Amino acid sequence: MKVYKFGGASVRNADGVRNLHKIIGGEHHLFIIVSAMGKTTNALERVFEGVQHGDRAAAQVHIDELKRYHAEIIDDLWHGPTQLARVDAFFAELERIVAERAYRAVDAEAWYDTVVAYGELISTTIISEYLRFTGTPNRWVDMRQCIRTEQRHKDAAVDLEASALLLRKALKDAEETIFIGQGFIGGAPDRTTTTLGREGSDYSAAVVANLLDAESMSVWKDVDGVLNADPKIFPDAVQIAELNYLDTIELAYSGAQIIHPKTIKPLQNKHIPLYVRPFGDKRKPGTVIRGMSAPVQVPILILKKDQVLLTIRSRDFSFVLEEKFSAIFSLLERYRLKANLIHNSAVNLSLCVDNTWHIDEAIEALRATGFDVMKAEQMELLTIRGYTAELWDKYARGPQVFVRQSTQTTVRIVRKRS
Ligand code: ASP
Ligand code: MG
Repeated sequence: MKVYKFGGASVRNADGVRNLHKIIGGEHHLFIIVSAMGKTTNALERVFEGVQHGDRAAAQVHIDELKRYHAEIIDDLWHGPTQLARVDAFFAELERIVAERAYRAVDAEAWYDTVVAYGELISTTIISEYLRFTGTPNRWVDMRQCIRTEQRHKDAAVDLEASALLLRKALKDAEETIFIGQGFIGGAPDRTTTTLGREGSDYSAAVVANLLDAESMSVWKDVDGVLNADPKIFPDAVQIAELNYLDTIELAYSGAQIIHPKTIKPLQNKHIPLYVRPFGDKRKPGTVIRGMSAPVQVPILILKKDQVLLTIRSRDFSFVLEEKFSAIFSLLERYRLKANLIHNSAVNLSLCVDNTWHIDEAIEALRATGFDVMKAEQMELLTIRGYTAELWDKYARGPQVFVRQSTQTTVRIVRKRS
């Protein structure tokens, strides 16, 4: 079995879906993981926020837009006005939930997951039906039943053991050799829908590859492969032919938008190669990521945006080190803050974290525990692997640089957004 993953951008319109069909043409023993079409997840977040803010009419407006958007894609694919009963049913379900189900703030994350999951449920339904319509038998798999996660919403971890049994059960005795499942979503032990974190479809695909002992996983993207920098931010970006798992994790963790950072572990554990390939041209080699690879020859620049720099100091001026560390990090864990960079001095601990929902609660909790906390917003984290003197001069100096950390090969810079 091979696993193919198509992100939202690659299926954002009817051409994208036709292209998916072209790419899988003639292949068998494929498990295809698909994200929500285009910016659907963002729109569903707006639907959720409508409910959250008590404005259900606004939520419905966003649902109406999504219905129109998907209807256009369907009409285009089927060459004329077409109703797909299963798509209509999903929209009806979503509308019913949004109109009728009671909202409580304590359930915000569970509510969020329930709503945003419809993006993937709908995209996979359209694609599965379209493939059948074009003569490619396939089985639509409900990943809420197959990917068992922990009992936690919005950024749930997968229970691989439980999922292995469930997924195998879902594929058992299948006559089809092509399977279509949703990225990003799973189900908790209490049967509610969970999600694996934004952009989590890569992780879903890697989990499926792991569970099925796939021979490879391919991510089909709107770039030719992995580049050494985001060309929108750094012109002169070039493609990298090969990467090893370790470098890839480092890059993804630093914010490279190659793939979701959680993707590598399930692949590495089973030695499954990952191909990043351009969906526009199946003949191009893309980038391969596996255990061993040729060394990367160019500097790699990664910019992680939307960061907050927290500077933590114990109020009695005692050293922040040692036992205080564990108090701080268990609080971070509780509020799900991810430290992207850690820097300490005698009395200060600086943490660069993603700007998330729970940041102010975490700060409150730290203050209640006896720390002073300073919060600097609108920061970004720039990582340069294999930096040169020229790159150092360009990026590692200047008043906008708040923290700079370097080893012989890598420099990491927390700077004010320009
Ligand atoms: N649709 C989800 C998102 O946009 C998951 C993904 O695209 O990987 O975050
Ligand atoms: Mg997406």
